[in-house]
Amino acid sequence: MTARVLVVDDIVANVKLLEARLKAEYFEVLTATSGFEALDIAAKADCDIIILDVMMPGLDGFETCRRLKANPATAHIPVVMVTALDQPSDRVAGLQAGADDFLSKPIRDVALLTRVKNLVRVKRLLDELRGRATGRDTSGEESVEIFQGDVVGRLLVVDDRASSYERLRATLSKRFEVHVHTDPESALFHISDHAYDLVIVSLGLENYDGLRLCSQLRNLEKTRALPLIIIADPESDAKVLRGLEMGVNDYLVRPIDPNELMARTVTQLRRKAYADELRHNVEQTMEMAIMDRLTGLHNRSYFDTHFKTVTGQAINRNKPLSVVLTDIDFFKSVNDTHGHDVGDDVLREFGARLRRSVRGADLACRYGGEEFVLVLPDSEQEVAYTIAERLRARMDTDPIPVAGGQKELSITISLGVASVRGPEDTPEALLKRADEALYKAKREGRNRVMLAA
Ligand code: GH3
Ligand code: MG
Ligand code: MG
Repeated sequence: MTARVLVVDDIVANVKLLEARLKAEYFEVLTATSGFEALDIAAKADCDIIILDVMMPGLDGFETCRRLKANPATAHIPVVMVTALDQPSDRVAGLQAGADDFLSKPIRDVALLTRVKNLVRVKRLLDELRGRATGRDTSGEESVEIFQGDVVGRLLVVDDRASSYERLRATLSKRFEVHVHTDPESALFHISDHAYDLVIVSLGLENYDGLRLCSQLRNLEKTRALPLIIIADPESDAKVLRGLEMGVNDYLVRPIDPNELMARTVTQLRRKAYADELRHNVEQTMEMAIMDRLTGLHNRSYFDTHFKTVTGQAINRNKPLSVVLTDIDFFKSVNDTHGHDVGDDVLREFGARLRRSVRGADLACRYGGEEFVLVLPDSEQEVAYTIAERLRARMDTDPIPVAGGQKELSITISLGVASVRGPEDTPEALLKRADEALYKAKREGRNRVMLAA
């Protein structure tokens, strides 16, 4: 992962040190030596994350952070506050100023990179969502506000020491639903059976290596993407590193600072919320590209990609396949007499009847305005005719309720049926024969099914 990091500290030696470490990991680094300079750069330079020293003359880190978070142009950029280890009150003040996480001096490499990677990952997801939101017709600002609203979540703490998990629970339950599981042996099954948003694993378990559970969670399909935080004892860097390498998202070292615990939990929950939202978003977009909105049937573009494949396969394998093309009779006069909205009601209801009349393997598509097509694999002409005739008769006898059930309209349809003829047939020729049959049904008086010649 690469990203643009803004490092802010009034002591040049500190800036240089962080710059060198981040550059060694291929991050792009910008630097500022005062709060004002930082505000200026952040507003112009499109940064992915800001590392901000608390103690600076003039504008201190808290005030700088407050101003960054108050400006809509910079509010979405994550801020990591650099505080003194012996000043927990600084972290409280930092959170109040809007900081996303903390680093204590002296800054250690693992902590630095873990903070940067986690927060940049969240920002990337948010950027993607913001981009999608502004691309749609809903106002971008409104959506962004939803994304930045309060996070919620169901958390599980895996820990067997009451004194430890009670303290975790006391902090986290102020904002989240917190569950505790005290038996690491059965935790894997418990987690995969429940929909948690985040799991916190203690590495100080009696007779059990918490990293084993983490590794199992990462290997299991169902829990692979589940946010995971470990709680390590001091001086256990090697374990923390191994955890991060196997895909643990973040860590905390005892004694736990409640503000750090909260900040890291929020970051992981936000990442999950954004990722879920994005996935949902992508699924919707993909669905819209192949579905017809009015009828809920597949659209013409989907038909065009699939018809050739399905039909080509049937021809090559010498299997039956039939096509039914249907068109609503005198539909223009429905629009002319009752209005376009009533016309839409008719199309919607016809779409629903069409969907109910086919099997799972069949393909039902809206081919054009009031023209529909059914592709019926494994169906001889007689079968296709029966289906088509049943659909015609149903339309003929059951009027369609329109305008919210206030009226009923008698609507008929014409249908053309064609079937694969043999190894010399082609998808194009098959469709053409169905179209000719439909045309013939229209010419001979409508409200009828015609078989292709
Ligand atoms: P025929 O029996 O020969 O098929 O006559 P017809 O009136 O059904 O056929 P024509 O092709 O002349 O008219 C089709 C009409 O369908 C014209 C068009 O405005 C209307 N139409 C196409 N798409 C939609 C739609 O999405 N909603 C509505 N309400 N009307 C549509
Ligand atoms: Mg028509
Ligand atoms: Mg037509």
